[in-house]
Parts: sequence; C-alpha cells; structure tokens
Amino acid sequence: MAVKSVALVAHDNKKKELVDWVADNRTRFAPLTLYATGTTGRLLRDSLERDDIHCLLSGPLGGDQQIGAKIAEGEIDLLVFFWDPLEPQPHDPDIKALLRIAALWNIPVACNRATAEFILTSAYMTDDQHQPKKPDFSDYIGRPASA
Ligand code: PGA
Repeated sequence: MAVKSVALVAHDNKKKELVDWVADNRTRFAPLTLYATGTTGRLLRDSLERDDIHCLLSGPLGGDQQIGAKIAEGEIDLLVFFWDPLEPQPHDPDIKALLRIAALWNIPVACNRATAEFILTSAYMTDDQHQPKKPDFSDYIGRPASA
C-alpha cells in the first residue's frame, strides 16, 4: 500500500491551530508519513507523542525550501501550510516559492483548517489507486534555449 506523505508548516501565530487540528485528527494521521519544518515538527512530535515525524530545518532557515525540493522530487502528496495572513515574515520569498512549486507540481495545498478538513476526509486520502495527474513538462524541457 502506498503511504501518503504530508508536509506540515505553520507560522508562529498559526502553530497552535495546526497542532490542535492534527491532534484532533490523530487517527487519520496515524498511517501517514509526516514531514514538517523544524519548530512546527517539534511541537507536533510533543503533541502527538510520535518520534517518526521528519523535522526539517526551521522555515526561516531553509525548511520551506527543503519541503519545496521534496515536492519537486515527488515525495510529498499533500501540503498543509497555515501561513499567517496578518504578519509579514522574514522568509516571505521562500513562502511564495513553496506555494509556487506546489501549484507547479499539482500538489493539493491547504492553507487553513477548513480546507485541510476537506482534504483530510477526502476518499482520495485512503485510495491507493488515486494519484493526481503529474504535469508533463517535456515541451518546456525541450524548448529551444533563447540566446
Ligand atoms: P517553523 O517554520 O516550523 O520552523 O517555525 C515555519 C515557517 O515559518 O515557515
């Protein structure tokens, strides 16, 4: 059975909301492989008492970019990213880059609890056969280089 991988990221003002939501849904999360940015991941480890959460670097130190790289490499099935719409972040360019790479590679993204609930309870989450269509970039890759 293909285990789905979920990347979890929350800005500081949204961390409690994310951690509470994951804890409320711990049974649904139990079979999933979890990746998270550093601080978010440590809070989730403590809350869920799960030591198998893959904690990457903290977001401002490159964690968002590490998740973006994993998406580009096909390792992430879902991004849950509770970003803060009320506060600028020092790593705003990285946040934009992460959202861009998720859109590019056709990864489902939840930026708030309502969307996350819809996705987590979707039948696709437990359907081994379902894979979102992978984009075909062969035309882009094969385009002539501009001088
Ligand atoms: P953090 O990073 O989990 O290390 O706080 C999240 C972010 O700000 O991108």
